[in-house]
Amino acid sequence: DIRRIAIVGSGLAGLTAAIKLKQQGHNVTVFEKSRGPGGRLAAKRVADGSVDMGAQYFTSRNPEFLPFLTEFAGDSSFAVWNGRFGFQDKEGQWQAFPDEPRYVGTPRMTAISRGLSAHATVVAETRIESLARTDKGWALSDSNAKLTGEFDQVIITAPPAQTRDLLAQSNLPELTAQLDDAVRRVLPCWAVAAHFEENPWPRHEGMRCDHPVLFWVANNSSKPGRTSQDQDDKGVWWVLHANPEWTERNVDASPKQVATELIAALREVTGTEVAVTDALTHRWLYARSEGGGHPGHLWFQEQGIGLAGDWLSGGRVEGAFNSACSLVSACTASAVS
Ligand code: FAD
Repeated sequence: DIRRIAIVGSGLAGLTAAIKLKQQGHNVTVFEKSRGPGGRLAAKRVADGSVDMGAQYFTSRNPEFLPFLTEFAGDSSFAVWNGRFGFQDKEGQWQAFPDEPRYVGTPRMTAISRGLSAHATVVAETRIESLARTDKGWALSDSNAKLTGEFDQVIITAPPAQTRDLLAQSNLPELTAQLDDAVRRVLPCWAVAAHFEENPWPRHEGMRCDHPVLFWVANNSSKPGRTSQDQDDKGVWWVLHANPEWTERNVDASPKQVATELIAALREVTGTEVAVTDALTHRWLYARSEGGGHPGHLWFQEQGIGLAGDWLSGGRVEGAFNSACSLVSACTASAVS
């Protein structure tokens, strides 16, 4: 029973599903709207390396996760990020995060998606806009209304709002309605990477902030494999993430203004006066999912359509992996309708 399966999205969920389905002998094609794979495992190139603009690190509580990454992304594609991680309590005192291994892609987050994508057929720069049922299965149309083949099953791993749009365009109202609550639970995030002349805050490598602007800040250069080769260069990249409320209020602000305000907020939190020599900005409209149930995946047997992604399983990197694994079990256990 070899099936033709289309996967929309090449983030961790899409790539995990592709590899697992291919391992079982199915014929799998992944469609990705961006130029490269990875989704929110994202990094931007800078003169002396790259900075992680999306996911900052991941944990591994599912014993299958790290062996999967080792086998398919390669054991040099990720490493433990040793550091001091803290948060400020109500009295303004710094407290330590619970002790557990935190992993990052090396030398950048996208090393993981790059490694995984070598084991999948990924068609990049192809935004899937609608699905149409034909007598030979599901036909997918991209933004040029070009048909991209016929499939027995379709797996969608886009964030909830994009998944809902795709289902709505495909005239599947009964599926679309199931996404409304999930769409409301997705939080946006303005991200800034700032290059400081020297380390502005040597006390922590990553901090969760209780601040009107900032949610999280981290010393990106302290992650394994990021440091500049130039010993004389004392410059350090920090990544600053605004909290969802501030991001929502400033969603249309200019990137320059956002960089100025987030850097000013970091100065307020740390008291640093170290000069900033460069800054990059990225706006995530769909950064994290909060609350809600965690069904793992959604599988619509009658249509042969499955949904996976972090938002169905805890809203984190490892959740994206878990969600893909649970959907693969469900869709391969059922007959093609
Ligand atoms: P995505 O990575 O979003 O993948 C979906 C893919 O689908 C994307 O590549 C997208 O381009 C593609 N796509 C969408 N629509 C279409 C379409 N119509 N056609 C074709 N392709 C399409 N998690 C942690 O565990 N730890 C953290 O520290 C952490 N920090 C974060 C900080 C930020 C700022 C952000 C944005 C996220 C963070 N996360 C963190 C969350 C983590 O990045 C995600 O949980 C995880 O990467 C989601 O993977 P995914 O495969 O479910 O979705």
